[in-house]
Amino acid sequence: MGQTVPKVASVAFPMAISGVYDYEIPPSLAAAIACGVPVQVELRKRKLWGVAVRLKDSSPIACLKPILDVRKDRWSDADASLIKLYEWIASYYQCDLGRVFRPFVRKSFVEAREKTIAVFRVGLPATPPALTAKQAETLAALSAHDGDLTREACNRLGVSAHMLAALCDKGALVKTTRTVLREAGELAACGEGEERVTLFDEQQAALDAVLKGMEDAGSPFLLHGITGSGKTHVYIEAARRALDAGKGVIILVPEISLTPQTIARFRRALGDVIAVIHSRMSEGERRDSLAELVTGRKRLVIGVRSAILVPVVNLGLIIVDEEHDHSYKQSDLDPRYNARDVAVMRGRLQHATVVLGSATPSLESYRNASTGKYRLLLLTRRHGEAVLPRVTIVDMKEEHRENNWTFLSRHLSERIEWALSGGRQVILLLNRRGFSTFLICKDCGHSYTCPHCSVNLIYHKPELRLKCHQCGYEEDAPTLCPACKGEQIKFKGTGIQKAEEYVASRFPSARIIRMDQDTTRGKGGHGDIIGRFERREADILVGTQMVAKGLNFPGVALVGVLQADIGLHFPDFRAAEKTFQLLSQVAGRAGRADSLGEVVVQTYFPDEPAVRAAGNHDYQEFYNREISQRQELGYPPLGKLVRIVASGTHEAAVASLLSAAARVVSDRWGALVTALGPSPAAFAKLKNEYRYSLLLKARSAAPLHEAVAAVRSGLKVPPAIRMVIDVDPVNMM
Ligand code: ADP
Ligand code: ZN
Repeated sequence: MGQTVPKVASVAFPMAISGVYDYEIPPSLAAAIACGVPVQVELRKRKLWGVAVRLKDSSPIACLKPILDVRKDRWSDADASLIKLYEWIASYYQCDLGRVFRPFVRKSFVEAREKTIAVFRVGLPATPPALTAKQAETLAALSAHDGDLTREACNRLGVSAHMLAALCDKGALVKTTRTVLREAGELAACGEGEERVTLFDEQQAALDAVLKGMEDAGSPFLLHGITGSGKTHVYIEAARRALDAGKGVIILVPEISLTPQTIARFRRALGDVIAVIHSRMSEGERRDSLAELVTGRKRLVIGVRSAILVPVVNLGLIIVDEEHDHSYKQSDLDPRYNARDVAVMRGRLQHATVVLGSATPSLESYRNASTGKYRLLLLTRRHGEAVLPRVTIVDMKEEHRENNWTFLSRHLSERIEWALSGGRQVILLLNRRGFSTFLICKDCGHSYTCPHCSVNLIYHKPELRLKCHQCGYEEDAPTLCPACKGEQIKFKGTGIQKAEEYVASRFPSARIIRMDQDTTRGKGGHGDIIGRFERREADILVGTQMVAKGLNFPGVALVGVLQADIGLHFPDFRAAEKTFQLLSQVAGRAGRADSLGEVVVQTYFPDEPAVRAAGNHDYQEFYNREISQRQELGYPPLGKLVRIVASGTHEAAVASLLSAAARVVSDRWGALVTALGPSPAAFAKLKNEYRYSLLLKARSAAPLHEAVAAVRSGLKVPPAIRMVIDVDPVNMM
């Protein structure tokens, strides 16, 4: 750009406005404006906040409106490469550039207000005032600390509010105020201190490779380490070195409320340099975290997927923990990005080293490692005496033949007995919410579906209500059949509430807690349950897939999977992969201490490869088999997919819009891109809207991208229909 001052800024908007608009930069604001800075402008007679995404000397449009205001303090100017990343996201995921800024340019972010708190400083001791012995002693203790002390800091030193007031009165302490940024609750709660271990050989080798990588800024690493192999220690040491070298660090975790232990470990090891971004944060907390990173006061961010988008000063290292996790993909709104893939692109653009870690890598990442696109690092064993647990697979058909119709096989019951009698803890997984998953009248066959969606209503016993898990519709559970007035309504299908009730009746003296979406609503919900189980205030933790994620409970000797095949037959080409990952991850919760752990997997399909491979802890076996099927069908990672979903109240119009889309694709790209559908989506109706999907499949990305771009720009979507484009889709329902 040279020495000339840019006169025009292109502005994108985070909300429902497509495209980028040019505005004139008034000389008075020129110094404050940079790429990525929030700016206020007038658009369609409204004042709006947007983001300056490009600066230039002129615009093809005459008579531009001026920029009205700028929030310079919220963004650094060194972010041209970050804007490049956002442009890549908008282009690759086929959405408006402004949408990529959505997490940052919200009202509360640009209209920041800080909190003021009282701080205390030791006054000049030149004229020593008359102090009591106790006061003098306290003052001496406080003098040992540099700078301002907050009330909390004084408290921690054992100084009461009363004492503080007395010292202020005598002039020994000076009270002033300071503006601070609020900290996310999780962090404030963690203590500090060192967690430093001696890495064992495999860990050290992995760390050395990453450190070397930080010098060559080459291709990303895939750290494939079995559950409990000490990946987190490798992350911590790599982050420590990056920070020591003055670099910034991003660490992505799937869901913060499920991984409080991981955050606490980073905090203990690395100290007060961490900002957190999570999904249950208030707007204010999120803004504060961002501000700390933008200003460089915090240099490491741990966060969920949107943390990959935040500005970090001098970024040097990006770690994606549990890289296979599907929560990295934003499926429900634009930009429909996958934070893991964005991490790889960001690493390339900002010359940062990328480490993807998992015990069960996604097929995409493992394939990249096997073609040399990523560098593979292996951790094959656990620390010390700990080993992977022994897995027993139980065929539930066999149990039925032996006339056992309960949720627990004889073997699992016996092992629970064994664990409890030894004072050990048990985790039981059943990945289905509610009590009963379908109701049917025995007399007339009437069944209960949501009036707005094409799904069954789920019975929730605590509230005696039927609920739709898709749209939130609820009604009272019936006592009489509404169709025939019959009294024999059967509550069929097992949900986790029913399992919990059965386990409680079977083991009456055991203390049981349940962890699922229904018991973890509200702030701290997960943390409370995890904390209680950690403190051994419960013997059995019954949970949905939440219990499989990254938790570390040394007291757990046994993990039971009540029904391993839920999800195995969903209409999703990743169904087997998801099942394998879930089983491997939950199995990894056992045997973390020095004693041998055990896993019992109950299933109706004991010969399913995903179940068998998880039972054998054999990732390679699973991968080899699965990858050849993907190859045959041209599915990722051996092909690219884009899913287009249209929805609306007029079914025929929805279907015909997608037929038109399919024609656009077949007419010009038919040789290279296959259009599957349109056909009704797996959830064919949601919230009174019919849903159709069109799946586009290609061996290579370029023609697919062109075809989708043509659909996006060429197809006129009627106002009553919503059309969503999902590149690299994860949700196939
Ligand atoms: P992962 O992240 O791969 O699941 P963790 O880092 O949680 O594994 O390690 C599992 C357990 O083993 C933890 O309790 C951890 O402290 C311990 N551990 C791993 N490596 C070491 C080591 N080098 N020295 C001491 N303890 C270790
Ligand atoms: Zn519904």
